[in-house]
Amino acid sequence: MRILVTGGAGFIGSAVVRLAIARGHQVVNLDALTYAACLDNVASVASDPGYAFEHADIRDRAALDRILAAHQPDAVMHLAAESHVDRSIDGPGAFIDTNVTGTYHLLEAARKYWAAQGRPAGFRFHHISTDEVFGSLPADPSVKFTEDTPYDPRSPYSASKAASDHLVRAWHETYGLPVVLTNCSNNYGPYHFPEKLVPVIILNALAGKALPVYGDGSNIRDWLYVEDHADALLLVLERGTIGRSYNIGGENERTNLQLVRTLCAILDEKRPKPAGSHADQITFVTDRPGHDARYAIDPARIRAELGWRPSVTVEQGLERTVQWYLDNEGWWRPLQARKGVGERLGTQG
Ligand code: NAD
Repeated sequence: MRILVTGGAGFIGSAVVRLAIARGHQVVNLDALTYAACLDNVASVASDPGYAFEHADIRDRAALDRILAAHQPDAVMHLAAESHVDRSIDGPGAFIDTNVTGTYHLLEAARKYWAAQGRPAGFRFHHISTDEVFGSLPADPSVKFTEDTPYDPRSPYSASKAASDHLVRAWHETYGLPVVLTNCSNNYGPYHFPEKLVPVIILNALAGKALPVYGDGSNIRDWLYVEDHADALLLVLERGTIGRSYNIGGENERTNLQLVRTLCAILDEKRPKPAGSHADQITFVTDRPGHDARYAIDPARIRAELGWRPSVTVEQGLERTVQWYLDNEGWWRPLQARKGVGERLGTQG
């Protein structure tokens, strides 16, 4: 299959690009190379004859038309987005521009391209979204997000992603564009940009700095290893039912504090401190305004219809992730100099 991946120089997009190339697909990586991008994420496949890169912005309709016509993809996997909740609190405008308006331009470009091809039934527009569109769950472990959970986004980021989901569904219902949607839980793994919780904790611990935990650390997330996610995304692209959405979770609910303590225990094994534990550096900091209490995915649909389950537990995935950061200082060190990284963002409630 020839796949146009947007946001393929980011964290999840690059995992999709690497896996798609490994499975013999042809990939066009379209990315604007914002602060969150890093072409090193796809360096391992950059010389593959099936790989092409297009430096373009999804808000640039002319560029999208040109790229679709030039590469003639069978599918679009749309991952390009502004993705950091804390940055959306300080500057929501970029999130509306890229996540909402950019998705609109991509949908229109894809619709025109698909129509020009004779509306092939096999074409797919796969929109990658987040479980954050569903809002916040109560503590009761029997209550989880299903695909029918009403939308209730609470941050500028999740509201912009919810808007983009609605646009994608509308383009299917109104114009017949063959779409599939996925809403996944929190990802972690190699190439995670060093402003997100897991890499911040690993890198601060290695530097002997404080390990910031928002509020009391009781917020629960359902942790999904990024390479498992990429595998699920390719499966939904190939076998998902048109017009349907699929929730993708890690089946690994943990509080933020549990997650941080697990990372510290792994680091205590791999990089012991001269005395004490890395956990001694845990510091509770001001909570994020509107911080959702709990996210958890009910994976029944993707499991029953497509037979997919995550391959690792969070402990296994975190062990691999810590080892990857220990082995790849040359990747993360330069990214720490980028604007805003290492600063506390998103505290203005
Ligand atoms: P990321 O921030 O690591 O990467 C986003 C990529 O999109 C970057 O390479 C960036 O350059 C590119 N991009 C941003 N604006 C663009 C524009 N206007 N035009 C073209 N490219 C642009 O994000 P990520 O964590 O890899 O997330 C990928 C997708 O998955 C996003 O849509 C996000 O909402 C969704 N998602 C992420 C998570 C998570 O845990 N990281 C969870 C659920 C859903």
